[in-house]
Amino acid sequence: MSNTSGNPRSTSEYQAFDRRHHWHPFTDTKALNKKGTRVIVRADGVYLWDTDGNRILDGMAGLWCVNIGYGRKELCDAAYAQMLELPYYNSFFQTAHPPAIELSKILAEVTPAGLQYAFFTNSGSEANDTVVRLVRHYWSVRGQPSRDIIISRDNAYHGSTVAAASLGGMQPMHAQGGLPIPGVEHIMQPHYYLLGEGMDEKEFGLLAARALEEKIHALGKHRVAAFIAEPIQGAGGVIVPPSSYWPEIQRICREYEILLVADEVICGFGRTGEWFGTDYYGLQADLMPIAKGLSSGYLPIGAVMIGDKVAETVIESGGEFAHGYTYSGHPASCAVAIENIRILQRERIIEKAAQDVAPYFQKCLAEFSNHPLVGEVRGVGMFAGIELSADKRTRARFKPLGKAGTLCRDLCIENGLVMRAVGDRMILSPPLVITREQIDELIGKVAQSFDMTAKELGIQ
Ligand SMILES: *Cc1c(COP(=O)(O)O)cnc(C)c1O
Repeated sequence: MSNTSGNPRSTSEYQAFDRRHHWHPFTDTKALNKKGTRVIVRADGVYLWDTDGNRILDGMAGLWCVNIGYGRKELCDAAYAQMLELPYYNSFFQTAHPPAIELSKILAEVTPAGLQYAFFTNSGSEANDTVVRLVRHYWSVRGQPSRDIIISRDNAYHGSTVAAASLGGMQPMHAQGGLPIPGVEHIMQPHYYLLGEGMDEKEFGLLAARALEEKIHALGKHRVAAFIAEPIQGAGGVIVPPSSYWPEIQRICREYEILLVADEVICGFGRTGEWFGTDYYGLQADLMPIAKGLSSGYLPIGAVMIGDKVAETVIESGGEFAHGYTYSGHPASCAVAIENIRILQRERIIEKAAQDVAPYFQKCLAEFSNHPLVGEVRGVGMFAGIELSADKRTRARFKPLGKAGTLCRDLCIENGLVMRAVGDRMILSPPLVITREQIDELIGKVAQSFDMTAKELGIQ
C-alpha cells in the first residue's frame, strides 16, 4: 500500500527496513527501533512532509544548513548541467575544472579580506581535519615543529571524524574511541548563563578569554600552534559570548602569534545576519573552515579558507602539502555552491533577513523569557538558544539532565515543528528565507510546546 505522498512504500514498511538495516548517526538505535523513525519525503521553502502526510515547519534548516530554503530548482539545474558536462574530475595532478576555480574565486570575494585561497573538502569535519594538518605543517615549515598544540574549548563542536571530534569539546564523544588525539587542549567556554553566575557579563567574557592566555602560559608559548573556535557555538547550544570575549581573544592570539581558526561551518553564509561570524565580531581569522550553508545542504561540500600569512609561508616553502580528498572540489557540489551564493547575492537574502525577519524573530523569542519554563533566551541573527530551567529564579537544572529538552522536542514534532534539544537547551536555526508569517506560526508552535512541557513537568 502506498502512503499519502505517493511513495512506493508505507510508513511501517520503511520503518521496518530502517530498523533492520539503517544505523543512524548520533542515535540510540535501541530507543529508535522501539519507536520507529520518521520518514521525510519532501520539502519546500521552510516546510517538510513525512510519509504520513504531516507538514512540519523546519526550525533547524535541516542541520543548520538549508539557508536558502528547500525547493530551489536553480540548484538542481546547476548540478544536473554540470554532471552532464563533467560529472567528476580531480584536482590532484596539476589539473582543475571550471566549477572549482570559479568557486574558489567567488569565495575569496565573499569571505572577509585576507582569505584568498580555498582548500576544498566534502564536509565540515574534513575541513577541520585539514586545519589540524595545515596548522602543524605551517609551523613546521617555519622551523618550529614543536609548536603543535591546538587549543579549543569545552562543549565546542567541530565535527565527528577523529581529528574534528578531538578538537570538539564534547565529553560523550571523547569517551568513545579514546579521544582526543595528542596535541589538543581545551579551555572553558564563554557560557555566561551556565558559568557566570554572580559576575558582570563583560567581566565574565574577559575571564573566559583569559583562560586562553593562562593555558598558553601553562603549556609554554612556543608549544601553541593555534586556537580554534566557533564565533558562536552552535551544536553546544547557541552560546553567544559576551561582547568582551572576542576582542580579548584576538588580542591574545596576536600577542602570542597563535593562529586564529574561526570555525564558520554554522555561522557562515548568513546565520548571524552578516555573511560570516567573523564579520559580525570584526575578527581577523588566519583559517576559516566552512561547509553547511556553503551549498545550503543541497550537495555535500566544505572548504578551508586560508589566510595570506599561512598561504604565503606554505607555498613559498615549496614541497607538497600531502593532504586531499578524492572529491575535493567535486564539480557538481561546486556548481551548486556557486549557484547558492549567486542566489544569496541576487536576492539579498542575508541582508533582508538581517534587516527584517531576524530582528522580528529575536523580538518574538525574547518574550519567552517570561515563560515559567524558560531560564534564558539568547540569539543573534537567525539562530537562538533557549535554556529550560526547573526553577528560573535559582537556574536549577533538570534531573536527569536532558529530560525536559527531550520531552519538549518530541512535543514540538507532534505540534508540527522541528526544534532541536541539546540537553535542556532548545535550539532554533530556521532557513533565512522564513517570512514574518511563518515566524508567527513557529512562535505559536513553540508556545504551545512550552506550555505542554511545563504542564507535564508540573512547572507553573
Ligand atoms: C556541523 C559542524 C561541523 C562538522 O561538519 P560536517 O559537515 O557535519 O562534518 C564542524 N563545525 C561546526 C561548527 C559544525 O556545526
